[in-house]
Amino acid sequence: MKAIRGATTIAADTPEEIRGAVKELLTEIKNRNGLELGSVVCIMLSSTADITSLYPAKAAREAGFGGCPLFSSLEPLIKGALPLCIRAMVLAEICGPAVPVYLRGAAALRRDITGRLVIAIDGPAGSGKSTAAKNLAKRLNILYLDTGAMYRACALECVNRGADLSDEAAVRDVMEKLDLKIEYREGRQVTVLDGKDVSEEIRRPEISQLASKVSAYGFVRSKMVDMQRRIASEMSCVMDGRDIGTAVLPGAEHKFFITASAEVRAKRRYDEDRAKGFAVSYDEILKDIAERDRRDEQRKVSPLRRADDAVLVDSSDMTPEEVVEFLANKIQEKI
Ligand code: C5P
Repeated sequence: MKAIRGATTIAADTPEEIRGAVKELLTEIKNRNGLELGSVVCIMLSSTADITSLYPAKAAREAGFGGCPLFSSLEPLIKGALPLCIRAMVLAEICGPAVPVYLRGAAALRRDITGRLVIAIDGPAGSGKSTAAKNLAKRLNILYLDTGAMYRACALECVNRGADLSDEAAVRDVMEKLDLKIEYREGRQVTVLDGKDVSEEIRRPEISQLASKVSAYGFVRSKMVDMQRRIASEMSCVMDGRDIGTAVLPGAEHKFFITASAEVRAKRRYDEDRAKGFAVSYDEILKDIAERDRRDEQRKVSPLRRADDAVLVDSSDMTPEEVVEFLANKIQEKI
């Protein structure tokens, strides 16, 4: 008999989050260890003291893992411990070595096992976070995931299907049929929608506003967050967005919040858009940025906010190279 360890994190203490995380964790443990359910002797789960809305064992039973004895317990409140974390120990009759499974932010708990580096970067539009994240990932030779591109793709799909973004039912319908894939070709993130590379198309200025609108729907976010967590659970990555440190990967070991004044951000976006050949005006971009900031900061689900443990970086007077240097040094200090 072998003991297989695993852990995962949840974004919030809700029954839905617990159900989703427990099911994912136990399914991954089962798949990565090639377990037959009949070979499982028992499953023990524990959760940190900030998880109270559903017993993980109950979630496991609901997810179809109730054929063996289940046990769950609450861990003591330990200052500085990884929050919102669920741990599992699965005893099973297997021949090969036990493969531990650390998902979502919990990978940070066991870098010795997972060997993964997960870096969360958040910030408002034009703060320079994407450039910083891209260059940092290159420097560390790990994957870069631009989550904004995913919301942009959702918005583009709504446009393609003629769905009015203020019509929740229409957006829900589009999301149910969404065929979105994030691929990596020659180290570059490629956004594939309905089998077509839309990486350039989603950068159109009007898509920015639409992405900000579509991203305010909870059901859109939960679908995207699932994809983002799956990617982060499989490989080292730098992920940038608005809610990475607070909601997507709350357990990430390295978190940054990059910002800059609205004027500096608008000027950067203006230069970028002009270079791409878009006919834009500085004043319009400044207005667009202010509007998006307001919507992203005020939305009910996962608003743009600095995680308490994220390092704040004001890039207003920094060059892109200086920002990357700063991030790399901060990461090095912690490793
Ligand atoms: O970063 P980018 O400008 O490409 O993002 C487009 C929009 O997608 C943002 O204004 C924001 O509303 C949304 N977004 C989000 N959460 C993320 C990334 C982007 O809500 N993690």
